[in-house]
Amino acid sequence: MSKLYDVIIIGGGPAGLSAGLYAGRARLATLLVEKDKEGGQIVQTAEIENYPGGLTEESGPTLIDRMSIQANKFGVEKVKDTIEDMDLTGKEKLLVGKLGTYRAKTIIIAAGASPVKIGCPGEKEFTGKGVSYCATCDAAFFEDFEVYVVGGGDSAVEEALYLTKFARKVTIIHRRDQLRAAKSIQEKAFANEKIEFLWNSVVKELKGEGLLESMVVENVKTKELTEIQADKEDGTFGVFVFIGFKPASSIFEGKVGMENGYIVTDPDMRTNVEGVFAAGDIRVKSLRQVVTAAADGAIAAVQAGKYIEEKE
Ligand code: NAP
Repeated sequence: MSKLYDVIIIGGGPAGLSAGLYAGRARLATLLVEKDKEGGQIVQTAEIENYPGGLTEESGPTLIDRMSIQANKFGVEKVKDTIEDMDLTGKEKLLVGKLGTYRAKTIIIAAGASPVKIGCPGEKEFTGKGVSYCATCDAAFFEDFEVYVVGGGDSAVEEALYLTKFARKVTIIHRRDQLRAAKSIQEKAFANEKIEFLWNSVVKELKGEGLLESMVVENVKTKELTEIQADKEDGTFGVFVFIGFKPASSIFEGKVGMENGYIVTDPDMRTNVEGVFAAGDIRVKSLRQVVTAAADGAIAAVQAGKYIEEKE
């Protein structure tokens, strides 16, 4: 029989690590299961401008490193595994991973969300060969090249600004003629001489022989198709896609209550299943940020502790 934990946290992003910190500090026997590297979405962010008190010197990866060390300090155990199935119905919750099975009195689901893909021909083929979903990871490969950023939200515009530190020119391709990003971020982009805009446009196809060499863009108003070629001397260019993300919730379907793929919780992060909580980007909420993810994780862990106390 595997160890019976007080809390198992699924996901090692800001919500999961914050839940770990709070559960660990409450002396709850805590296991954090992460399928990949810790960090989630925020490791793709070079600068975190909007954390209260200011984390301006902090990047996503450095923040996650510190959160991770902090959780370790309070005794959180960690395992790298992918949860594939579960039984959340009983007093003891059972999680079935690729590598093992895990038992706990409470579960905190903090599995986050992942980038939405354009879904056009060539996107998959050129991922890692010109197409990227992470400027922090891949910007340096495009030093002095031209890059295109797809999307008009905070992520797209912030990452476009970051890319100007590397690329010669950054063109934001947006499907409308107005950005969705916060005004303060928009202003920075409009003032940046390296950033240009291709409005009312969507990427229809990505092409090349080995490396990304051209891209077909459609004007959504006129339906006109234009093929954008790589600069002859460069031979290639980068396409960074930031068109939102989707929750990593498919394995929880039918197990906890959901709305449009996001897990529904009450203000104390309780799902509709006793002893099962959700925190961070995976739950229905109005603002998905590090600060709200961390807050969710803290609340979920405290409520998990209370739930255990009440049941014992
Ligand atoms: P988002 O706000 O949902 O924006 C997605 C953008 O992609 C929108 O401009 C959208 O166009 C466009 N888009 C969506 N599907 C598309 C498609 N199939 N083809 C072409 N374009 C498409 O996503 P996000 O920028 O990743 O941000 C997610 C959340 O994180 C937001 O709440 C955001 O405020 C927050 N965030 C905050 C910060 C910050 O404050 N520092 C940084 C990053 C993210 P439309 O505008 O036409 O819908």
